[in-house]
Amino acid sequence: MAALQRIKGTNDILPDHLGSGIFRLGLWHRLEETALRVAALSGYHEIRTPIFESTELFVRGLGDVTDVVKKEMFSFTDRGERQLTLRPEGTASIVRAWIENGIGNSDSVARLAYLGPMFRAERPQKGRYRQFHQFGIECIGGAEVRHDIEVIAVFWNIIRTLGVHAVSLKINSVGCPTCIPRYREVLRAHFEPSLKDLCGDCSERHKTNVLRMLDCKNPACQDILSSAPPLTDYLCEECAAAWAGLRHGLDLLQIPWQHDTRLVRGLDYYTKTAFEIVHEAIGAQGTIVGGGRYDGLVAASGGPAVPAVGGAFGVERMLLAMQAEDPTLPLRERPRFFLVQIGDEVDDDIERLLFELRLHGIHALRADGSRQLGKQMRAAAKLASREVVFVGGQEWNSGTLLIKDMDSGEQESIVVGSYGVLACLLKRAGIER
Ligand code: AMP
Repeated sequence: MAALQRIKGTNDILPDHLGSGIFRLGLWHRLEETALRVAALSGYHEIRTPIFESTELFVRGLGDVTDVVKKEMFSFTDRGERQLTLRPEGTASIVRAWIENGIGNSDSVARLAYLGPMFRAERPQKGRYRQFHQFGIECIGGAEVRHDIEVIAVFWNIIRTLGVHAVSLKINSVGCPTCIPRYREVLRAHFEPSLKDLCGDCSERHKTNVLRMLDCKNPACQDILSSAPPLTDYLCEECAAAWAGLRHGLDLLQIPWQHDTRLVRGLDYYTKTAFEIVHEAIGAQGTIVGGGRYDGLVAASGGPAVPAVGGAFGVERMLLAMQAEDPTLPLRERPRFFLVQIGDEVDDDIERLLFELRLHGIHALRADGSRQLGKQMRAAAKLASREVVFVGGQEWNSGTLLIKDMDSGEQESIVVGSYGVLACLLKRAGIER
């Protein structure tokens, strides 16, 4: 029978020594731990919400003219005739959970972080998957521009801590319900004469969501789209002050930024600040982080009129960026000792030693299968073991431990004496008893 395969656009993430590229779990753990730890430095703590929610939640939260809702959701009807959707992003669920759990009542500014799989039926390519993963933070109740800056700074800090440097931060303001209607009219009028030269998507968006025209990636449309007057020229007083405050705050922290007049974000509930962090060397799907302020979402989701700001990065894309900058990314946890067995009679010794080392928290392994020396050494190398300990043989029988450093290739003999093998190895691993 033919073996079944994984669904296109999904990935298996394997243990380090079995996987390749970004699909090695040690890299994921490192990224996840770093992101959660750095976010916690600013008071953001993890929340976990279900992977599927009612379809309605995303339609309301994202707006039914966005690409995500129109074309990309994995939706299904369950046995109870409920319309459900695998979450395409995190914010709508976090806001729902914030309302449903009364988080807003106990804490006026809630700082939440999330991490997990998201699902979008996009055309898969490098950096774009149907099941991908996001790490995001949301600052719900954060009304001030310093909250926008705080969110950007958290992402900036995570990126730096992960050793990624070739990034640029793009910012824009997308206004608010006071100023955006006027700008929409300006844009509509501006593009009206050129519609015949623009693509079908642009014509469609001219009618339904004119702001999204600025987002079009079609090369043939770029010249005309770039001629649009910048949105920041049309901001109301409040949005203009926030826009100035944002730039001032980023300058203060010496986070370099570029004004991207065409940055409008794909989702409907964004107001004021919009930002993206783009990596220069990971190809077409170079946007790692996206986020902004969404003052309209909480109320649109049936909650109180509470402002909020947040953002998210794609885990796969962040890993591609890490790898682009450091192709030799070290694996996370190398076995400290690999015990190589010489002779059948030491089988029990090895098993007991392994057990005791692990009781002391030491990562220690042995080979499966063949007891042939060469095969055991290859297994040790494949797992990137730091040191091989030879158990059995002449030295062992005469009270000497033979240890090989797998990085330098050097061998060392240690007299065990009355100390005992376990104590010797623990001492070597930095554990004193
Ligand atoms: P968005 O929710 O669309 O603002 O996306 C935020 C970030 O999630 C993007 O900048 C990407 O890093 C990542 N992302 C979005 N869609 C995908 C996808 N289909 N595959 C991989 N990463 C994605």
